Amino acid sequence: MTKNANASERRHRIVARKPVTVMVREKLVCPYCGNDEEFYEVAENAYVVVHFLQNEDGTFVPVEENMEVAGLVKFYCGRCQADLSHLRDKF
Ligand SMILES: [Zn+2]
Repeated sequence: MTKNANASERRHRIVARKPVTVMVREKLVCPYCGNDEEFYEVAENAYVVVHFLQNEDGTFVPVEENMEVAGLVKFYCGRCQADLSHLRDKF
């Protein structure tokens, strides 16, 4: 058997970089005041169940919170309080 003469041959590895696709999301902007940072939601007819564990000293620690929303969830601008629920459907 003959030894492989090409054993010391250098191999070059070419790493092909794939273009990174960045998800560009259209930002939600309040059409009334231009705010694009602060928003809040108001859930109507929400049913909240909080489970607690009682400590030795009688204090309570919340361990779990379940919320069921039976009504509408409204979305508001955090600056001018405009109702933006119709815009929220976009996300
Ligand atoms: Zn606003």
